[in-house]
Amino acid sequence: MNTNIQELGEVLASPKNIVIVPHKNPDGDAIGAALAVYHYLNILGHNAVVISPNEYPDFLKWMPGSESVLKFDSKRKAAKSLIENADLIFTLDFNALDRVEDMKPTLKKSEAAFVMIDHHEQPDDYATYVYSDPKMGSTCEMIYHFIDTLGHRNKIDKNIATCLYTGIMTDSGSFRFPSTTSITHRVVADLMDRGAENSDIHSAVYDTNGLSRLHLLGCALKNLVLLEEYNTVYITLSRSELEQFGFKKGDTEGFVNYGLSLKDVRFSVIFIADTQEDFIKISLRSVGDFSVNEVAREHFNGGGHINAAGGRSDLSMEETIAKFRELLDNYKEQLTT
Ligand code: 5GP
Ligand code: MN
Repeated sequence: MNTNIQELGEVLASPKNIVIVPHKNPDGDAIGAALAVYHYLNILGHNAVVISPNEYPDFLKWMPGSESVLKFDSKRKAAKSLIENADLIFTLDFNALDRVEDMKPTLKKSEAAFVMIDHHEQPDDYATYVYSDPKMGSTCEMIYHFIDTLGHRNKIDKNIATCLYTGIMTDSGSFRFPSTTSITHRVVADLMDRGAENSDIHSAVYDTNGLSRLHLLGCALKNLVLLEEYNTVYITLSRSELEQFGFKKGDTEGFVNYGLSLKDVRFSVIFIADTQEDFIKISLRSVGDFSVNEVAREHFNGGGHINAAGGRSDLSMEETIAKFRELLDNYKEQLTT
């Protein structure tokens, strides 16, 4: 779906107050898209600011513009006032206002026009300007096409190129997921020509692990359970394990993918206890046409894409695992034939 993007170009012809919002617990794609749009809109002469619902991992903090990102949960007053005064609100890398959690009531109250640029399935209809395409591998790739559609490819400078490259790289598993197309590679080539330093960006994201992350990975892999009869694996990380290994935000990013490296496995899930509140964050991944978006939506109050989705459970870890093992029977045929 692609509505009114040209019309949005006309709205952007005069200076506006603009707030840019990624989803809660933003990943590389969400922060990359938000910061790229931030740089782009400020180049156009707008007064643009990124407000993230909460903090994001250290391995994304080097990104150009990162120091300007306001966190809603710690700077509520300033953030609310910016949202109240906004003419336009860009919501990036999500398509339902639930994804910003505590920030939702403030956004709902705003009279600004909403823009949605996103690649998840089943978008809600809160936005006036919508560019939604679940076939796209990343929101950052869509931001590139958005800027190009508005005739501004030449405004993509080193900062914008760096942010977009980061999001495309992280959401595509370094260009290996099936959503990576020849167009993705052309976009990435253009971003390199415009200043994105591919090797440095990869190192900045993936080669800055703290020891806590590697120890936690060891623990996660030890906890991995293979359910051969369902071609499924799951991993658990309890609160005490997270505490034992000095968990920091972002440390568990990507762990769920290890499950899919096992031969014949089609479905991999990780259950991670929250360290502050009483719930369990769930990440689901699949290969082929098994839809984890459906599983997350139906059973775990979440959603996402066919091969990557997330959700949560308010049950205990034991109860959550029991529920998960039970529901697998409903999917046995899809997982084994
Ligand atoms: P992750 O497992 O990396 O947190 O998320 C995988 C994908 O599912 C991402 O595209 C993410 O935006 C989406 N996702 C993660 N958690 C949720 C959730 O609670 N609700 C919805 N609708 N999508 C989610
Ligand atoms: Mn994304």
